[in-house]
Amino acid sequence: MDASTETSIAIRNLSLSFGLLDVLKDLNLEVGQGEFLVLLGSSGCGKSTLLNCIAGLLDVTGGQIFIGGRNVTWEEPSKRGIGMVFQSYALYPQMTVKGNLSFGLKNAGVPKAEIEERVSRAAKVLQIEPLLDRKPAALSGGQRQRAAIGRALVRDANVFLFDEPLSNLDAKLRADLRVEIKQLHQKLSNTMIYVTHDQIEAMTLADRIAIMRGGQILQLASPNEIYNRPANKYVARFIGSPS
Ligand code: ADP
Ligand code: MG
Repeated sequence: MDASTETSIAIRNLSLSFGLLDVLKDLNLEVGQGEFLVLLGSSGCGKSTLLNCIAGLLDVTGGQIFIGGRNVTWEEPSKRGIGMVFQSYALYPQMTVKGNLSFGLKNAGVPKAEIEERVSRAAKVLQIEPLLDRKPAALSGGQRQRAAIGRALVRDANVFLFDEPLSNLDAKLRADLRVEIKQLHQKLSNTMIYVTHDQIEAMTLADRIAIMRGGQILQLASPNEIYNRPANKYVARFIGSPS
């Protein structure tokens, strides 16, 4: 079966094992073009592993991954058209913010003028223009995470993967950046898969939520539907529905 054009990402019968540990088990998932999908589940259920498979940072044990209808299962990460933001900022400490944003583009051979343009566009969207000449050590946690998002933005990717990008930040900053990420998505209208273990984050950000447990997806539906019609007791308890 191949993916329709409205489908941005299609995952078919995906499995991944680390030695004897089966982490992803025959997992199927379709994400629509421009959709904001939240993967919600408790620690250890396989969320990061799934994102890393989509990004091509891990080799799958079985199954296929399609992006924009193309089978990318064995394609190298840089060819997949993906921007990824990790939980820890993973900025290069010895480089300025501008250096961090430009680095991947330089390596990819993007012409200098275009790098300048993309970096200043991303910096404007994220309101980090005044910070471009600073090094990460001279930034607050929120500013660092904005810079990390910037590094994904400059890639002009059609698909963004966010792995718990706000979980190292305090509550106030988390709430602010949540709003910004939502606005960013409305502005760019690219496909997002956003991983979190935080129910509030999932409810406020998602077009649809996929509830994950033990390497499988238990339910995939809108926040409203999941809250009002949880598929089972585990989902109800996890999402905090009245039952
Ligand atoms: P989550 O992101 O939902 O917290 P992970 O995808 O990081 O979960 O991990 C899922 C399971 O796989 C956990 O049991 C974890 O210990 C295990 N795991 C993750 N990465 C590795 C690895 N590189 N080698 C062995 N086991 C791993
Ligand atoms: Mg994780």
